[in-house]
Amino acid sequence: MTATTNCNSCQAACCRMQVMIIDDTGMPERFIETDASGVQSMRRLDDGWCEALNRNTFLCDQYLVRPTICRQFEMGGSDCQRTKVDITEPWIGD
Ligand code: SF4
Ligand code: SF4
Repeated sequence: MTATTNCNSCQAACCRMQVMIIDDTGMPERFIETDASGVQSMRRLDDGWCEALNRNTFLCDQYLVRPTICRQFEMGGSDCQRTKVDITEPWIGD
């Protein structure tokens, strides 16, 4: 972890990543999308962030039922470091 890694100042960059649903944690269906191959992921809106992210607080509105991948995501870990993009830029997808 670097000294600058801090969720409080990050604006949830990781919540702009594709989050696949690998098991049932109780996430309401309206937040889940299924692609042509049957892969389920958290739905993202046009701004790139997960639909479950509160745009005012940058906290998860579905925290108690968040997907397993979100539970396992490590602040300061390699995936976290890779998401350190400029989130003021328009989202252009994966
Ligand atoms: S885990 Fe990493 S990418 Fe996600 S909000 Fe925290 S600092 Fe940002
Ligand atoms: S479910 Fe919550 S923690 Fe997971 S990507 Fe969406 S907003 Fe972030």
